[in-house]
Amino acid sequence: MLKDLESQHVMHTYNRFDVVLDRGEGCYIYDNYGKKYLDMGSGIAVNSLGYSHPKLMKSLEGQLHKLMHTSNLYYTKPQIETAALLAKYSGFKKVFFCNSGTEANEAAIKIARKHGVSQSPTKTQMISMTGGFHGRTYGALTATAQEKYQAPFKPMVPGFNYVEYNNIQQLKQVITHDTCGVILEVIQGESGIHVADKCYLKEVMKLCHDYNALLIIDEVQTGVGRTGSLFAYSQFDIEPDVITTAKGLGAGLPIGAVLVKEKADILVPGDHGTTFGGNLMATTAAQVVIGELCENNLLQHVQEIGNYLKEKLECLKKRKNEVVDVRGMGLMIGIELSIPARHVINQCIEEGLLVIGAGENVIRFLPPLIIEKQHVDEAVTLLEKVIEQYS
Ligand SMILES: *Cc1c(COP(=O)(O)O)cnc(C)c1O
Repeated sequence: MLKDLESQHVMHTYNRFDVVLDRGEGCYIYDNYGKKYLDMGSGIAVNSLGYSHPKLMKSLEGQLHKLMHTSNLYYTKPQIETAALLAKYSGFKKVFFCNSGTEANEAAIKIARKHGVSQSPTKTQMISMTGGFHGRTYGALTATAQEKYQAPFKPMVPGFNYVEYNNIQQLKQVITHDTCGVILEVIQGESGIHVADKCYLKEVMKLCHDYNALLIIDEVQTGVGRTGSLFAYSQFDIEPDVITTAKGLGAGLPIGAVLVKEKADILVPGDHGTTFGGNLMATTAAQVVIGELCENNLLQHVQEIGNYLKEKLECLKKRKNEVVDVRGMGLMIGIELSIPARHVINQCIEEGLLVIGAGENVIRFLPPLIIEKQHVDEAVTLLEKVIEQYS
């Protein structure tokens, strides 16, 4: 049996749900028995164009038959065109491609350190926020100010300081001229969809400016259209120096990216690199995703359908006491429950609905960006049916 084979040979780093997924079509995914699931999780905000998206398939098939990988010793068209497209629509100057969110944050931290030491040998301090999540490699893990992720792996990377999210007083106390960078999410995803205050973020930006520290916004989850704008920060009236992104960018292929303004465009040959980064398949996918968002009205669709989803969930909250709070933006919505999330998620799977947990009692809706009203209605009906079992 597949599950036995897994427990024998795959390192036990994941607690998996009891389902073997096999294929997908649009917003639906099928298991090995052919059972159909409505996917409101997108493989954790990754499958931005759903499954078997015709335009994506066509581009990838074309590229597959031409060339998959070259390394970064040579020029390739998809990588360069994708960087230009990202720059055009984001307003950032330059892009570095890697393969995941954690890698994007590693690069951003290195950029912040280099920015710092180029001015003063002691300007090496990073600041991040409690409840944040930035990834599992050492730099990103150190930036992830959550004991549960760090505990077995100490010591962490030196030079990181933690302050409370949404607490500007604490940041004022901790930031100094030795701070080289501040990293945070505008909506904390993994810890349960916590949205930053607009005024707070403006103050964070001002402090970064006053102390000449780079403001790094981690858009690994919020980026690439997820919240209804290409990047979420633009809805908060701030101008970061660096943003990192990944998840939805490759529509299912592994890719990460760091976008920098002029001021942070400081890496030179030899400073950083990765064998697979910006490979032809991943950047071909990213090109399709950005094209759909910015040139084919997908961003506008996310805004409309996101509002519809939120309205429906607000109504559900009025009907069901078990729904304590509904928060988030666009198609990144958290539903806080008074009952344990994991039970609810398991029951949803039984009913044919995939949703994602966040913390003990929050479930996340991170559906494909192409979702339609009928899918929202179906998802809310199924979720309500599951919640009713607890009333
Ligand atoms: C998922 C996530 C990461 C880590 O990305 P990986 O691709 O899993 O390394 C980093 N930051 C945020 C905000 C995330 O949601």
